[in-house]
Amino acid sequence: MHVHVVGNGSGGSGCWVRVTGWHRPLAAMMLRGIGLPGDALSGDLERLYVERLLEQVRSSSLATTVILAQDDVHDEQGRVMKDAGSFYVPNDYVLALARQHKEFLPAISIHPARPDALEELDRCLAAGAVMLKCLPNCQNINCSDKRLTKFWERMAEAKLPLLAHTGGEHTLPVVQPKFADPRVLTLPLEIGVTVIAAHSGTKSGLVDPEYFHVFAEMTKEFPNLYGDSSAFNVPLRGRHIPECLREPLAPRMVHGSDYPVPVQGLWACLRGFLSWKDYRAVGSNPNILERDYQLKRAMGFTPEHFTRIWRLLRLSQP
Ligand SMILES: [Zn+2]
Repeated sequence: MHVHVVGNGSGGSGCWVRVTGWHRPLAAMMLRGIGLPGDALSGDLERLYVERLLEQVRSSSLATTVILAQDDVHDEQGRVMKDAGSFYVPNDYVLALARQHKEFLPAISIHPARPDALEELDRCLAAGAVMLKCLPNCQNINCSDKRLTKFWERMAEAKLPLLAHTGGEHTLPVVQPKFADPRVLTLPLEIGVTVIAAHSGTKSGLVDPEYFHVFAEMTKEFPNLYGDSSAFNVPLRGRHIPECLREPLAPRMVHGSDYPVPVQGLWACLRGFLSWKDYRAVGSNPNILERDYQLKRAMGFTPEHFTRIWRLLRLSQP
C-alpha cells in the first residue's frame, strides 16, 4: 500500500511533474534508487517507471500494491492553484493501470473542495477505486471544513477508505503546514470514514513538529483510525517503531511503502531496532519494495501488519 506512480506525459497519461531547485537532485536520486537513469524525468518516464515497478512487485513478497493518483492543489473555493503543486497523476491513469495489471489496485485522489468532487467520486467508485489519497498540507485540504460533510458521508457510505498524509513533508512543496496535524482528520473520522494516517504523524525533517503521539492518542478515540508505516526507513520517520510494534497500536498499523522514496535500514540499526546481522543480510536488496518488507519483518512487524489493509480497502466491486 502507498506506492506512488509518476509520469511526465511521455506516454499520454495526462501526468505531469515539475521539479525545481533542490528537489531536482532528490528526484534524480529517487529514480536511481529504483534502478532508472537520473535523466528519465525528461525521457520516456512513464513506460520505464511502470515496467520497473511491475518488475519489482513481481520479484517481491508482495502480491499486489495500491498505486496512488495525485490531484492538483486547490484553494478553499475549489479552484486549482496552478503553480502550487509539483506533480499530478490523473485518476484515469491509475484506474487504467489497475485494469491492465493485476499487480496494481487503484487509489484515486480528489480535492474534496472541487465543485465536481462528488461527481468525480461517484465516477471513480463505479470504475473500481479501492481507496482515496490526499495530502492535506500539500494539497491545501482542510478536511474538517463542514462544507466537505457530504463528500465524507459519500465515502463512508461507499466504504472507501481515506489515506491522508500526516506529519511534515520535504519531498513535495507544503502549502499549509498546520494541516500536517492528524487532528485535521476529525470530521471524516466522526462521520465514519476509515482513515489511514500516512506516516502515522511522524516528522520528516529535524524542525518539523512531531504528531506521532497525537495520532496514537486519536486511535483511542476513533476505532476507524489506522496509521501506515510508509517511509519508516528514512532518517527520522522510524523513531517510533517500537511503539508501533506493541499493543495497543500494533493492530492499528498497516504496511505502507511510499515507493520510490529511498529505503535505508541503517537508521533502524543505529537506533537498535534492527540487528547488524539483519541489516547486512537484507539492507542492500536492490528491490526497495522487498528491502522495506524484509527490514520491517526483521524489526518485528508481524505478517498481519502486511495483510491488515485487505480488510480496509474497498475491494467488492459495485
Ligand atoms: Zn507518499
